[in-house]
Amino acid sequence: MELNIASTIELNDGHAIPRLGLGVWRMAAGAHCESAVRAALDAGYRHIDTAAFYGNEASVGKAIRASGIAREQIYVTTKLWNNAHGDPAQALEGSLGKLKMDYVDLYLIHYPVPERLRSWRVLEGLRASGKARSIGVSNFTIRHLVELRAKTDTVPAVNQVELHPYLYQKELLEYCRANHIVIAAYSPLTHGEKLADPKLVAIARKHSNGAVPPGAASSGVLNKSNRSAGAKSTAQILIRWALQHDAVVLPKSANRQRIFENANVFDFAISADDMRALDGFNENLRTCWDPTNAP
Ligand code: NAP
Repeated sequence: MELNIASTIELNDGHAIPRLGLGVWRMAAGAHCESAVRAALDAGYRHIDTAAFYGNEASVGKAIRASGIAREQIYVTTKLWNNAHGDPAQALEGSLGKLKMDYVDLYLIHYPVPERLRSWRVLEGLRASGKARSIGVSNFTIRHLVELRAKTDTVPAVNQVELHPYLYQKELLEYCRANHIVIAAYSPLTHGEKLADPKLVAIARKHSNGAVPPGAASSGVLNKSNRSAGAKSTAQILIRWALQHDAVVLPKSANRQRIFENANVFDFAISADDMRALDGFNENLRTCWDPTNAP
């Protein structure tokens, strides 16, 4: 079936997660974050990715309530931060208090800290209590997932990791697909670092009928002011690449126009040849954490 903004993927616990979510890391709490969440909901996003660590859960909750959209129609993820593994149940209570919600749709272990197995068993209980509809992990490598599988009873529903063509984690994608773990792609826009990469611009141009007005070549980035109507930006190519790899995608923008732009990725497809070309951009670029050696 064709993808659209309402598309979801079924998780291994029977719940469904929307394919596109707004990431709110580094969004200041208050009006800044609230207006971004509101813009995303206006654009049709129904999935917000926050974390205790981001310090803006209260703003996310406030913006969702102000939207008038029913709570059940919006998918909310938050995460257990590294300093709160002493009492994960208490940490989730704190997050729910800030969000002013009775439950989150997805609660993630934010990073594979040494206490992860004990915390995971607590998260299993939080899922059973209904306070977290689904539970998952973030920044887990194959090694961490194999250990979790061997030593606990629940396979995580989601593994949220950095994913973009410059960090094409092929083996991790294959492991997760084989084990029914949905990958959620964080920093899908390379945190902004590669948006002007000429190789990527060349692929975006193919979706602009070759008619890129002057200006795009020098700036590199194809944006609304320097590209033809219907043309796709490099950001849109990156989001579409992750969608076509069956990932949930979590672009962050605090700008209303770019929030809408990032959702306008359902009216085109990247060809198999260009998907292969993008896969070949891999250079193991980590714009965020590198959990490879996390004990
Ligand atoms: P990102 O989404 O890869 O990139 C965000 C950057 O790109 C911002 O500077 C943004 O600026 C800019 N941008 C957004 N849309 C654009 C567009 N259409 N054209 C040009 N520039 C654009 O970065 P991220 O925040 O690192 O990752 C996204 C989300 O993933 C986070 O917010 C968070 O929810 C999640 N995440 C999770 C973890 C984890 O450990 N689990 C780690 C990192 C990130 P403007 O805001 O000005 O548009």
